[in-house]
Amino acid sequence: MFKKIIDFFKRIFASIFGGSKKQNPPIPSNVNLPNEDETLAQDGSEITPDTAVVIVNEKDPVFLDDDPPIRPTDIVLDPELENDNTGDLPNDPTLPTDDPNDDPPIEDPETPKHQARFLWCLDNGHGKLTAGKRSPKLPDGARLYEYEFNRDIVKKIITELDKLGVQYYNVVPEVDIDNYLKGRVARANLKASKLPKIFLSIHSNAAPARTGSWANASISGIETWYFHNSRKGRKVASVFQAALIKATNWKNRHIKSRPTKQFYVLRHTSMTAVLTENGFYNNKEECKLLLKDEVRQKIADAHVAAILKIERQGI
Ligand SMILES: [Zn+2]
Repeated sequence: MFKKIIDFFKRIFASIFGGSKKQNPPIPSNVNLPNEDETLAQDGSEITPDTAVVIVNEKDPVFLDDDPPIRPTDIVLDPELENDNTGDLPNDPTLPTDDPNDDPPIEDPETPKHQARFLWCLDNGHGKLTAGKRSPKLPDGARLYEYEFNRDIVKKIITELDKLGVQYYNVVPEVDIDNYLKGRVARANLKASKLPKIFLSIHSNAAPARTGSWANASISGIETWYFHNSRKGRKVASVFQAALIKATNWKNRHIKSRPTKQFYVLRHTSMTAVLTENGFYNNKEECKLLLKDEVRQKIADAHVAAILKIERQGI
């Protein structure tokens, strides 16, 4: 009888609090996003041959309609300014020599002040509760869990961005979570920011293989995904892909997009969005590398280099 009473209360608590399995945090009710479709690919590892993938060389130029290049003929000098001695025209011998005491203090080159240009929404794809997304066991018993790898890369990126003064938002700091695609997108879309936002989703890839087996060793390398036909997305993806290949010297799988069935986080984010696939965790040799701290640091540093380049140049 006593056990029945305990079970009764367990069931009541489970119905209220969702049982012992940890649930994803609630998504605000005012978010108008479609539910996650379990049959659609979420990242490069789930690509099936049923839809086309467009592969572009990241070195091919991208031209933006709303960002025309400045040609020399576009630069017209203001005639009034030319005659104005208060104007700061260089190399003008009629200008008084500056008093060196008026010079502004020289900034310490070690700590340059960074003028933040974007808010980087850093997304660490998947969570501890996501099924699969792990390598087979290596001979020493170690294996790579994708959620852990993704979080470690984001953590390393954040350490550098803090030093540099680049603005970021860690979209999903929780670990005990499933894919949580709708929540990731909702959080990034709802995040208030005076700066334009860029969504950067970080993953490691997997090639087709029997469950628990290593994939064909010939499949390896790095690729970056963007929203199909987004020129800004393509431009951002190109910068990340080039930086990652330069840092690792791994096989270049270039930048990719899908004309249909695009990844949820690329489809529904209301900002420029890219997704990096950093090596294959079910390629035995690459998996061993992806478990090494120095290799992870190199991958994180390459992301930081790409972020800095976009912070300087814009998109
Ligand atoms: Zn993934």
